[in-house]
Amino acid sequence: MNSKYTKGFAIQLDQEDPLNSFRKEFHIPVDENGHELIYLCGNSLGLQPKRTRDYLDQELTDWAELGVEGHFNAKNPWMPYHEFLSEGFSEIVGAKPTEVIAMNSLTVNLHLMMISFYRPTRKKHKILIEADAFPSDIYAITSQIKHHGYKPEDSLVKIKPRKGEDTLRTEDIAKIIAEDGDEIALLMLGGVNYYTGQVFDMKTLTNLAHKEHIYVGFDLAHAAGNVKLKLHNWNVDFAVWCSYKYLNSGPGSIAGAFIHEKHHKSNLPMFAGWWGHNKENRFQMPDDFEPIPTAEGWQLSNPSILSLAAIRASLSIFKEAGMDRLIEKSKNLTNYLIELLETIDSDKIKIITPEKRGCQVSIQVTKGNKILFDELTKKGVIADWREPDVIRIAPVPLYNSYSDVYKFYNLLTSSL
Ligand SMILES: *Cc1c(COP(=O)(O)O)cnc(C)c1O
Repeated sequence: MNSKYTKGFAIQLDQEDPLNSFRKEFHIPVDENGHELIYLCGNSLGLQPKRTRDYLDQELTDWAELGVEGHFNAKNPWMPYHEFLSEGFSEIVGAKPTEVIAMNSLTVNLHLMMISFYRPTRKKHKILIEADAFPSDIYAITSQIKHHGYKPEDSLVKIKPRKGEDTLRTEDIAKIIAEDGDEIALLMLGGVNYYTGQVFDMKTLTNLAHKEHIYVGFDLAHAAGNVKLKLHNWNVDFAVWCSYKYLNSGPGSIAGAFIHEKHHKSNLPMFAGWWGHNKENRFQMPDDFEPIPTAEGWQLSNPSILSLAAIRASLSIFKEAGMDRLIEKSKNLTNYLIELLETIDSDKIKIITPEKRGCQVSIQVTKGNKILFDELTKKGVIADWREPDVIRIAPVPLYNSYSDVYKFYNLLTSSL
């Protein structure tokens, strides 16, 4: 047995890893000499599965050969193409296939969900969100508050960690919900906070909020394909996610949305478009909108088939690997990273990601030492830097190896 802190040990862990063959399914970016980079940035943009090209080629070929007939006669007909993704998405987020839909992009879906689930009144108009939420979410929420004629200073509640702490405590969020519940209309959190990597207790928070008649939505951009989700059983009202981070479907690819089935026939206000209309008579072009009584009813437009094909390719890999096995490897891989990082002087770096996490680890660098990050980049590490002082590392179980983690640690210690 090799010592834990050696390359040999990492290689041994890779050999014992039941999912190690999946790395070969992906294109790993290389440096100018053709050497594989240490790609730890799947939380920002997932790598390209090799099979994605075949999935796209199929649609390009059918488009070339069939033109408009491809809507019905393509090998994978375009009319119902989004339905081919329902099962895969539902397994990723823990939902029924009728509760998920691939459409639009993430921020657009967030707005569409708020059209349905943010219905402020004079008394109940506040939206609760984590203070360090992704800026786009804050912008979206702020603009919705203004759109309804309310003021962000009255209606936007940003939850901050306690003094001296980096992440939020469930009990502190619970306290706000209990104390101000009658003024809060919506609880909107990132399922996994993009900055700290903290996973929120979505089940408990949903329960607590519902007791106060607060709708609950999660932005799963950093959670989908990363952590175990059970949106249906947790009784979450809605969720949105993108497909280009852990879901490896390409830059700007189509996003997802979840709407709990209890809302499908409840006449919630919604923005409408023809793709959400009853499929039976959509092409008779009736004037009156009749929403499909599933998450599909929230669709506006016919979607980009090329983008959906990329998602389909990726979901087929998730199906083969299995979410439970991925999460098991993710835990092992991330624990290994943390164990290595803990050997480093605590006055040089600090891990701000709590134990409730997915595969992302956020490392705070003393004195905002960006030189360190630049040095790592020069040595072949692709990670990302978030101002003022955090390096985010995401060893992704589908394609990252224990050796990647070890090499990162080795370069980090030699650069410090
Ligand atoms: C990545 C990310 C986004 C990006 O939004 P797009 O609409 O896909 O550009 C928004 N919110 C969160 C929390 C994210 O992590």
